Amino acid sequence: MDPHDETTGALFSLQPWGEEDMVGRTKDLVLNPYDGVDWERVQSHQAALHLHTLQSDGYQPVAEVVGAYRRAGFTVISITDHDWNRPNARVLWKELPPEAGSPYPAEPYPPGFPANPTWPWTDYGCPSPEELGVIGIQGNELTFRHHINSFFCDYGVWYERTGKGAPYGGIVDAQGREVWEDDQIQAIGQRGGLATINHPGISDEHAWWERKPLDWYVERFANHPAECLVGMEVSNCETRFQEYDEGLWDQLLARFMPARPIWGFGADDMHKLHEARQSFNILFLGEPTAAAVREAMLTGRFCFCSSTKGVNYQAERAERCLFPKLREVQVDPMRGTITVRADDCGEVRWIAAPASLEPVADFRTSDRPWPLGHVVQVGETLNYRTTPGIGSYVRAELVRQEGGHTQRTFLNPFGFADL
Ligand SMILES: [Zn+2]
Ligand SMILES: [Zn+2]
Repeated sequence: MDPHDETTGALFSLQPWGEEDMVGRTKDLVLNPYDGVDWERVQSHQAALHLHTLQSDGYQPVAEVVGAYRRAGFTVISITDHDWNRPNARVLWKELPPEAGSPYPAEPYPPGFPANPTWPWTDYGCPSPEELGVIGIQGNELTFRHHINSFFCDYGVWYERTGKGAPYGGIVDAQGREVWEDDQIQAIGQRGGLATINHPGISDEHAWWERKPLDWYVERFANHPAECLVGMEVSNCETRFQEYDEGLWDQLLARFMPARPIWGFGADDMHKLHEARQSFNILFLGEPTAAAVREAMLTGRFCFCSSTKGVNYQAERAERCLFPKLREVQVDPMRGTITVRADDCGEVRWIAAPASLEPVADFRTSDRPWPLGHVVQVGETLNYRTTPGIGSYVRAELVRQEGGHTQRTFLNPFGFADL
């Protein structure tokens, strides 16, 4: 496939949503991430898949981070420390006193130091996931290029910095070969790991970050199979970039669905337990195992949640918001309906592709550079054959307003083909 289609600049032939409404055309649901979920028996697991500790630039030790999230009800936890920070970066930067530093890893340093994934937790003074009764997932945040999380593998090593390609700083491997995101994602795949693309919207005001154009994301998702690059963060630590990430997600879904799903993830990207955001995932698992987590991440069998309100996970009882809870997704292929049943939900919004795939502002300076996906229906049932405006996908958001804050639970996208 050529990702540089001259006429549209997009990977697949695009069908602006208006053209989908012609009388006589019939739509078929060809991709349902919740297909096969036994809603009577399935277990809902809260998953924190992007956390930092003293082992990179976080502020708390591994045991404290894992303990706090476990206390707050999380049963799936991945520590994803940066692969570029030495342990105790905050001590090094004089933001924490030396006595607050982590003594791990103990000498002699293991191979790969200082860029070891924080795994297994027992090497870092934390009980094992089994002892704690949680599902621990090996993780790492690749940081020298666009930030990418790797899961279920040890990829993430200390490269030689070249200083090229600022502001990220270039990196080369042991053979002196420049290493790019494609090399990194490929290496994760070769090791049997899963990858997500992190926080696209973080602004260029950080010296270590540079936003990428939409085409960059199109190329990554075109170049790498969904079996490895499973999706992207649509909600990360800073609320002000929420629309940027959501807009990008819809732009990509409009180009790739239903052939190539891009699952959305929520991450609070926690560095300080006392200043976390409420952004996380709810995985629907048949059994409480790492293998089931992997399967859910591959198939999109999860939701992600995002609040505009922060939380202090260091508190004895973290005051978390009440989020809408997905209870069931029912599909009636004869009628052409999808019904979502949820608790604690004020409103179900169905969102389809943006009306336009053209940017509306400069992605470097605007926090809303693309038209957002548009609401085609409000209410728990959607008829995807008769509702105008649905193209190749639709996704649902469960919304709850409380105390001046908005809690949203995002479903992963459903994909359609025209019969
Ligand atoms: Zn990051
Ligand atoms: Zn991070």
